[in-house]
Parts: sequence; structure tokens; C-alpha cells
Amino acid sequence: MNKVILAENAGFCFGVQRAVEEALKVKKQYDKKIYTLGPLIHNNDVVMYLEENNIYAIEYSEIDKLNEGDVILIRSHGVSKEVTENLEKRGLIVVNATCPYVTNIHKKVNKYSDLGYNIVILGDDKHPEVVGINGWCNNNAVITKDGTFDKKLSKKICVVSQTTEKEETWKKTVSNLSSLSKELLAFNTICSATEVRQKSANELSKTVDTMIVIGGRNSSNTTKLYQIAKTNCPNTIHIENSKELTKEFIEENKGKTVGITAGASTPDWIIKEVIDIMEGKS
Ligand code: SF4
Repeated sequence: MNKVILAENAGFCFGVQRAVEEALKVKKQYDKKIYTLGPLIHNNDVVMYLEENNIYAIEYSEIDKLNEGDVILIRSHGVSKEVTENLEKRGLIVVNATCPYVTNIHKKVNKYSDLGYNIVILGDDKHPEVVGINGWCNNNAVITKDGTFDKKLSKKICVVSQTTEKEETWKKTVSNLSSLSKELLAFNTICSATEVRQKSANELSKTVDTMIVIGGRNSSNTTKLYQIAKTNCPNTIHIENSKELTKEFIEENKGKTVGITAGASTPDWIIKEVIDIMEGKS
């Protein structure tokens, strides 16, 4: 039998876990088709599971198709104030599953833009989280991807970050802004979920014979975990779910110490299936 070790931090982050649980709870409560504004999560198995539970993603451009009294859930990324108000105006039942860490950013930019600060967001201007944040300061934020600025800024600045940004880019942004402003309020709103997963994968992969990284092929945080693990442990594989574990792989790794980690969009049940197979329980 194998010794299987699960990384200390693996799989769903707090905000995603909360949103999925909320969707299932709301489904039970209303007992009818539930909509999520955009896919709740980028993981095919989870999307299929949600659809089996009558929970479907719908884009904002399609909300005309919904009827009064339909239930729509806002995912962990959050949305602008205007989007929420518009959904409510249409008579939809809006369930807010925005991650509390993101809500905290909304509150900050809303408060300080009202107090006359020029809001700066470090992040990707196309990412739904950043689009949502900007919607809490009248879409007037200056958005920077790399901490540099080609636009003129006012002398009073309040800066926040997309939750998945790197600390290094944040430091560069704050340092550049400190020479451009007279008054600078900097709220480091980076969430540690990604970093702690990478740290755990790094530590674990140094101590095992084999590493299995579980997560969507198109998930960038899973790919990053795979790269980190592979550097320390050449016998590292990336799979989306337990069905991808081949007989040969299971056979070759009998009696070995196997480490397992998973990206932030991988649910517990998929991780458990992989553990059970590698432990010879199923
Ligand atoms: S802010 Fe952090 S905990 Fe919340 S959804 Fe994003 S990564 Fe997850």
C-alpha cells in the first residue's frame, strides 16, 4: 500500500467553497432552477455536478431571458453596485456569494472615492473581479497591470489590489505611487490562498517519491502548482480527476510515498477519489 500525503493547503479556497455551498443551499431552499451570473467555477466536473443539481450559469448579456422571481447567485468574484441593482430592479431574487475579502475591497473603494480619492487598482482590467471593484467607484479607477502609470493621477490616491496579484508587483505599485502622490492610502488586498497552496506544494514535493496535482487543464493556478512540484519531484503528474489515473501509474507507484495537491477550483470529492485509489481503497 502507498503512503499518501495531502498538502496542507489544497483545493477550494474559502471564497469558492462558500459560493458552491451557498448555491446548493439556495437550490434546496427554492427547489427550482438556480442561475449563477457567469460560471461559478472553472472546473468541468463541478459545472456538471451543479447542472445535475439544476444550477446553471448565465451571462449578464442574457439576463433578459430570466423572469421575475428567478433566483440568481453572484459568484465569489463579485460584481459592481450597478449590476446588483439592475438584477434587483428586474425582480430577480439576488443571492450574494461574493467572497468577503472582495466585499471588503468594494467597501474601501466606495468609501474613499466618495471622500475624493483617486482610486487605483492593481490588476487585470478584463478580469471580472477588477471590473466589479471598479464598479464601486463609478468606474473611475486607474487600473494598472504592472504598477506603472502613463496617465496623470490626482495627488490624493487610494490603491487596492486584485486578490490574486503578486506581492512583488504590489510593492512596485506602492513605491511608484509614493513618488506620484501627496497623500497615499494603500490597502494590500492580496489574498494569501494562492501563495499558501504554492508553498505547501513546494514543501511536500521535496519529501515524496511521486506527486499528483489535481485541477483543470486550463486552470492557471493548477499549472503553477504542477510546475513547482515537478521541479522538486520529477515523477509529478497533472490530472483533472481520478479517471485519469492509469493502471500502469497506480502499479508503478505501489509502495511509494505519494503527495497530492490540488488547484483552488478542485472540490474535495475529486481529491478524495484520488486519495482512495492511491491508498488502494477503491
Ligand atoms: S479572495 Fe481569496 S478566498 Fe476569496 S475567492 Fe478569491 S482566492 Fe478565494
